Amino acid sequence: MIIIMKPDIDPNGPEVKQLLDYLSQFDDIQTRFSGIRGAMREVNEIYLIGPTHHIPIEVLERMPGVEKVVRVSSKYRQIGKHGGQLDDVGFIYNGVEFSQNSFSCFIGPCAVDTPENVETIFRNMKRVGLVTARMGVYKPRTSPYDFQGHGKSCLPWLFELAGKYGIKVIAMEVLKEVHIEEIYNALEEAGRPTGVMLQIGTRNAQNFELLKAAGSQQEFPVLYKRGMGLALEDSLNACEYIASEGNRNIVFCLRGVQSRLGDPHRNLVDFAHVPVVKRLTRLPVCIDPTHSVGGKDRAPDGILEIFHATAQGIIAGANMVLVEFHPRPEMALCDGHQALTMQELDHYLADIEEVRRCYKKRVELAQQALFKSWHNN
Ligand code: PEP
Ligand code: MN
Repeated sequence: MIIIMKPDIDPNGPEVKQLLDYLSQFDDIQTRFSGIRGAMREVNEIYLIGPTHHIPIEVLERMPGVEKVVRVSSKYRQIGKHGGQLDDVGFIYNGVEFSQNSFSCFIGPCAVDTPENVETIFRNMKRVGLVTARMGVYKPRTSPYDFQGHGKSCLPWLFELAGKYGIKVIAMEVLKEVHIEEIYNALEEAGRPTGVMLQIGTRNAQNFELLKAAGSQQEFPVLYKRGMGLALEDSLNACEYIASEGNRNIVFCLRGVQSRLGDPHRNLVDFAHVPVVKRLTRLPVCIDPTHSVGGKDRAPDGILEIFHATAQGIIAGANMVLVEFHPRPEMALCDGHQALTMQELDHYLADIEEVRRCYKKRVELAQQALFKSWHNN
């Protein structure tokens, strides 16, 4: 059961105290307070853990300061919408909003290589007004002989360059707990010129110790990538691991699922799940068209298949795009064959803007249709 307090209620004030006093008569019930600084408003929730069936909802709902009481289904306790009873809250990190209404585009190389290449990307981002980047530093590779990323040695110059170009958030994969610490220390030493979103890659989608480590810190938000061979439910449960440790600032990323049925694409594009994740959970949803498509083939209409996949995710309401760009793909140490170039950036963003506008129009049409049917009944 979750008790949602009215927006102006002080967590240390008399209303919460009265509520907790009332609940203390139920011996087997534990309470856990959760304050979320949402993108739209501050949300204070009290979670009741234990057998709650004998607690009268009507009494709780009449108590001062209570906005509503929700009986949660056992699934996705923390991240779930519980049959539409809870709203999305979202969060703001380093000045950037992440919610089911927001939109941002993270661009950059699969793996960080040289300061020159990184600077070229940041310079172009500044030119077009982007403040969110993707930069792999720790790389989980299929072959042990492939480039494994520069690791922590590149963090000082990477963060310094990010600060120079006003980059607010860098999505960066972590493979083990100590990487979180390394990122934290490097950011501190650099004077916090930028922010980091910890990426849990598809290969670690059920690495429960890593999920718990990302969840038990509150410093960085987490970009969770769906397991390449996992049912949606299993990946959502993995996010529940992160949230249940205390960190609810999570973005869920669809990146295609591994199947020969996706051939000739690298993975089978799963962006029809964008609205499903938004319906089942309170999480903003990201799409990764690069690892879904995995190549730069151009359709007969003149549009790259990566652009087409991007549009499919955005038209379905995606809140974030994670996409690989490299100024010199032939030199890239990882995934150069699927990277877009700086020359393609303006076209890519113009295409995205058009599709996002179309998505908003579709939402408007749906609202009008709903209003009409409600009015006629
Ligand atoms: C990445 O985005 O750098 C990456 C390795 O993606 P995934 O974990 O989805 O394969
Ligand atoms: Mn890659």
